[in-house]
Amino acid sequence: MSLHGDYDPQNIFAQIIRGEAPCYKLYEDDDVLAFLDLFPQALGHTLVIPKRAAARNILEIDAQALAKVMAATQLLARVLVDELQPDGVQVAQFNGGPAGQTVFHLHMHVIPRFAGQGLGIHAANKADPAELEALQARLVKRLAG
Ligand code: 5GP
Repeated sequence: MSLHGDYDPQNIFAQIIRGEAPCYKLYEDDDVLAFLDLFPQALGHTLVIPKRAAARNILEIDAQALAKVMAATQLLARVLVDELQPDGVQVAQFNGGPAGQTVFHLHMHVIPRFAGQGLGIHAANKADPAELEALQARLVKRLAG
């Protein structure tokens, strides 16, 4: 998929926003949704997406909506660090297929990084549902605390 094109309302993240597809939700407000990546590249790999903006990438979202996504990204980074105690935390965002984008609804990756552990392969290995569920419970509890 190219950097330019029409927004596809049937993309998987749009389906998740509409409640048509499931997710391991961590956080939601009027503008932003955050949930666990189904194919995590490290423990706690989280995605943060705008709910109202039909934006495929960073070029298409208005600055106000992007600011809300970034504020939630910071919140999730803090929660992940508090709960999982990683040695680092990576925030990433890709625009266009050649840049690594595979889902064409703007999203931020928040990936805890642990010393001595390389980054897993992108969008390759589906996590164990029971592990995602347990992690979701821990992070939701930490967010509420
Ligand atoms: P991108 O490659 O577009 O930057 O990232 C898309 C991310 O979405 C990947 O990390 C991939 O693992 C994740 N992903 C793909 N399909 C699903 C899904 O159905 N649910 C969730 N939670 N994550 C998904």
